[in-house]
Amino acid sequence: MSDGIERATEGFVSAFGSAPEGVWSAPGRVNLIGEHTDYNEGFVLPFAIDRRTVAALAQRDDSLLRVASSFTDEVAEIDLRSLTADAVSGWSAYPLGVAWALSAYGADLASAPGADIYIDSDVPVGAGLSSSAAIESSVALALDEVWELGLSRETLAKVGQKAENEAVGAPTGIMDQSASLLGREDAAVFLDCRSLDAEVVPLGFREAGLELVIIDTNVKHEHSTGGYASRRASCERGAAAFEVPSLRYLSVDDLDRAQQILDDETFRRVRHVVTENQRVLDTVRTLREQGPRAIGALLDASHVSMRDDFEISVPELDLAVETAQANGAIGARMTGGGFGGAAIALTPAELVADLTTAVVDAFAAKEYAVPAIFVVNAAEGARRDR
Ligand code: ADP
Ligand code: MG
Repeated sequence: MSDGIERATEGFVSAFGSAPEGVWSAPGRVNLIGEHTDYNEGFVLPFAIDRRTVAALAQRDDSLLRVASSFTDEVAEIDLRSLTADAVSGWSAYPLGVAWALSAYGADLASAPGADIYIDSDVPVGAGLSSSAAIESSVALALDEVWELGLSRETLAKVGQKAENEAVGAPTGIMDQSASLLGREDAAVFLDCRSLDAEVVPLGFREAGLELVIIDTNVKHEHSTGGYASRRASCERGAAAFEVPSLRYLSVDDLDRAQQILDDETFRRVRHVVTENQRVLDTVRTLREQGPRAIGALLDASHVSMRDDFEISVPELDLAVETAQANGAIGARMTGGGFGGAAIALTPAELVADLTTAVVDAFAAKEYAVPAIFVVNAAEGARRDR
């Protein structure tokens, strides 16, 4: 981690010619359980990971906002006085969009001083670990401090979401930013997407000798946009049939009736969301009462539900999950939106090496693309580092 601080500081100096006044960072996240429940106002249980995006910043005497990143040679700049959601594009829409979104929460862009910001990151981009929330949250925390806004972390999560929805143009929920801002070491963030109440839930992976293995299939299917939209539409149809605002208002007791009044496909979509919400609640209770070694069956059941009811898995994800389960994982599931991306496998530390070999071999035997396999730890959320 201190490497990231050094790299961001050095990058800042070479991009802008002087030293930063401070360094802030925010982590990526992985979702332990609770998939496609966020937009149904349900429950999710993500945790912040030990991969971080670092933002080095110095204020300026004028009203210019400049951003540079180790990811790209393109330095973007805009005058704060003319900053709007439509005035930003490309990668810089994330950090500049955050500055714009802060104006809805008390920042006065007509008088705020400008800043130079340099971004360095070891969060893989586009792997489902939310590099986007990491960049948003690091910049939001930095600007909140130097502009003396005093916003809560819950509010900064809304700022990041607003930037992503309106400046970037991606219709995402608030899970990623909440995890990145509220995360704690060896703990998850239990988020109620209806009330936005967030609670830190200790995971106890370390004491139990467990590692969370990410298996990134490197598969990105074209269906993801259309598939996501059609799943959302099915959920809305199901809620409408019950005359409730969202599927959050249904419980497993409603599933018999759902089967009677819905077509088979809509019923299975609804069953995924309703049972997944219950699995998040069960996971939180199990972690508290029995510890992490007892949550494996819930992770496995989540995968089956996404594969068979929500139908968002792909053969590579199924192979990753099945191979992990057969080689020591106590529970495994695909994570993220589906149609590609990564699986997670909760695995006793001493079995991680064998599991990794087994998955690599299984992918090779099917001539699938080589997966990226690595361990992540639940880490502290956004913070000032220097
Ligand atoms: P994910 O959040 O799953 O990694 P997204 O598509 O939501 O994927 O966000 C990735 C985008 O965020 C990148 O394409 C880039 O525009 C921006 N981004 C993330 N991290 C950085 C970074 N360190 N430097 C510049 N841009 C970044
Ligand atoms: Mg993202």
